[in-house]
Amino acid sequence: MYDIIIMGGGPAGVAAGIYAKRAGMNAVIFEKMFIGGQIAITSELENYPGFGDPVTGADFALALFTQCNNIGVPIINEEITSVNLQDDIKKVTTEKGEYEAKAVIIATGASVRKLGLPEEDRYVGRGVSYCATCDGSFYKDKVVALQGGGNTAVTEAIYLSSIAKKVYVIHRRDTFRASSVLIDKMNSKENIEIIINSSVAKIIGDDKVRAVDIKNNITEEINQLDIDGLFVAIGRIPDTRFMDYEFMDERGYIKTDSDLNVGIKGVYAAGDVVVKKLRQVVTAVADGAVAATSAIEYVEQH
Ligand code: NAP
Repeated sequence: MYDIIIMGGGPAGVAAGIYAKRAGMNAVIFEKMFIGGQIAITSELENYPGFGDPVTGADFALALFTQCNNIGVPIINEEITSVNLQDDIKKVTTEKGEYEAKAVIIATGASVRKLGLPEEDRYVGRGVSYCATCDGSFYKDKVVALQGGGNTAVTEAIYLSSIAKKVYVIHRRDTFRASSVLIDKMNSKENIEIIINSSVAKIIGDDKVRAVDIKNNITEEINQLDIDGLFVAIGRIPDTRFMDYEFMDERGYIKTDSDLNVGIKGVYAAGDVVVKKLRQVVTAVADGAVAATSAIEYVEQH
């Protein structure tokens, strides 16, 4: 049996792993994909303290992985399918087996939200993308559209503007949720055109995306826009679908106290999966450290 099972290997999970391991705990991180989580597919981190120059998401993720290895935090690459957290012995089930721990930290983060259009899935990898950093290079000197109005959307639009010939940013309202610094930067890019009060209503193509129908949400007018690629950056959904507990809010985010306890003994949450105001790497790693400290105290006392 483990002392602490950490679910998720993003910045929050890794921070928790480092703190737990250094406190002498028998701790393990479960990660279904790669260490780093969402940060691994982020272009650059400009606001994380300690880096004179911006660090790429991929480099940051690699550094997290290296640190886990150096400190000796074990990583199990299996996807969690269900959990039983109520009893003193916590059970975590993956597609390969069942694992037990005295305490758990839920740091599963959040994954991309889709537009929900019927034809959307068919075009993934054929012109529809949820990650500009991953797929932007396919659109050199091409025309792309990007739906979204938050920090992710604007960061990705700025990134795409350095590759693509033209970037249409489509936002469903007339004011952006993104920070003013990012909006100013986006506005300074000559090849970015902003289409407000609008949403992608239909993806049109053959073997790949050729155009989108854009619906004006006020006039309901529809205009077709010829594009080579559609990027979607409309927020995320917490990765908590493998469980159903009262500590989750209606959207699936986890409610905690200031020690990051969820209201069940020995169960903590950290990072983007937590109900909070600011979802950034800096708050995720802080959560990881706090959750681990709380979990360590719990394990030592029981
Ligand atoms: P977000 O802040 O939740 O923004 C999502 C955007 O998508 C909003 O503009 C929203 O419109 C729009 N949207 C949601 N559902 C939609 C739908 N069905 N159709 C069309 N548009 C839709 O998500 P995010 O930008 O991914 O950011 C997540 C968190 O990471 C935030 O806390 C953000 O600050 C942080 N982040 C920070 C940075 C940075 O500081 N550099 C970079 C990336 C992310 P409405 O505005 O109308 O709701």
